[in-house]
Amino acid sequence: MSNDQDDIAIETRAAVKRYAGQTAVNQVHLQVKRGEFVSLLGPSGCGKTTLLRLLGGLEHPDEGLILLSGKDVTHIPAYGRNTNMIFQQLALFPHMDVYNNIAYGLKVQKTGAAEIKRRVGEILELVQLGSYSRRSISQLSGGQAQRVAIARALVNRPEVLLLDEPLSALDMQLRLDMQRELKRIQREFGGTFIFVTHDQHEAMNMSDRIGVMKAGRLLQYGTPSEIYERPADSFVAKFIGDTNLLPAQVKSRDHTNLLVESCGEKVVAGRSKLKLAAQAGVHGMLSIRYEYVRIGPAAEHCVNRWMGTVTDSTYGGANIQYSLEAGPQLKLQANVLYQPGDIRYQPGEQVQLGFNAEDVLFLEDALSGHGE
Ligand code: ATP
Repeated sequence: MSNDQDDIAIETRAAVKRYAGQTAVNQVHLQVKRGEFVSLLGPSGCGKTTLLRLLGGLEHPDEGLILLSGKDVTHIPAYGRNTNMIFQQLALFPHMDVYNNIAYGLKVQKTGAAEIKRRVGEILELVQLGSYSRRSISQLSGGQAQRVAIARALVNRPEVLLLDEPLSALDMQLRLDMQRELKRIQREFGGTFIFVTHDQHEAMNMSDRIGVMKAGRLLQYGTPSEIYERPADSFVAKFIGDTNLLPAQVKSRDHTNLLVESCGEKVVAGRSKLKLAAQAGVHGMLSIRYEYVRIGPAAEHCVNRWMGTVTDSTYGGANIQYSLEAGPQLKLQANVLYQPGDIRYQPGEQVQLGFNAEDVLFLEDALSGHGE
């Protein structure tokens, strides 16, 4: 095995899972490095949970392989793998206290009493519940119960911890606290965590890498900034962050730019961020993040610039979102940072607006559909 392979904690190779003829996971290649926090992100029904269950051995693929630390575990059930899973329903034992919930798995494995005491003590410190060991489960807050579930899943030191939307039942503030807490626990524990979510902010906040899924396929796997700045296609661009997606056709190209026609207007798109060397005639989509659209004096030096009209403005505290008409067909959304005293444009006002060539991405996926 090469060193690179040694770094891989868990892997799927061309994994396929079908249910009654429907393909829930479709040819997924995923390599998760040891010690990383990875999120699987995508809309409801895209196959995130099924992929997680394949990794954990709760399901087995119809085709392809699952490798844990380089070892083929494709047909090994959950109890034979060194992985553990936490579900949204924590399934703690209500009649046992915190200590015994966490110790349960070690007792089943016939671990010695002194070793159990040491390991449960350590893990209680890690999740900061040291003084709660004799508390009954019914006397815990939602956040504390989450920590007990995490402690119980980590106490037998799994190679990989799989988490299926464990925070989705929590209210917003607690959820944000638990995101930070889970990340801290992962860092201190030094383990590999794979986390399923449909919340892009949660994935961006917590992950070393994100896998974006759609209709059973892994569309892109990369760091949060790779996925945000160089989305593989318009679905990913739209799913992560706010972006203007406009149908477009390449007219010509030179070393640095593409000249594109979009919504009846000429647009210069920089090529520095592009992987694809689109040729003249190719149809695709332009992606321009809301925050890259500039208004007023800020638009003065943009290569792509129009006199346009503000059609709507929404105050969001630290920012203002504008709806803009740049041309008869070219409509844009802009998200502008706002501080008290800044100019605030009103609906009906004429403004200069624009964006720089390097802030436009041309994505060659017009035919695969978008915005679903
Ligand atoms: P959600 O965010 O809603 O949980 P998901 O991305 O986790 O969705 P999966 O639960 O993996 O998606 O489901 C993927 C597809 O497979 C869906 O169309 C679902 O209906 C189907 N599916 C999942 N489990 C089963 C099952 N046990 N039997 C039949 N179909 C299933």
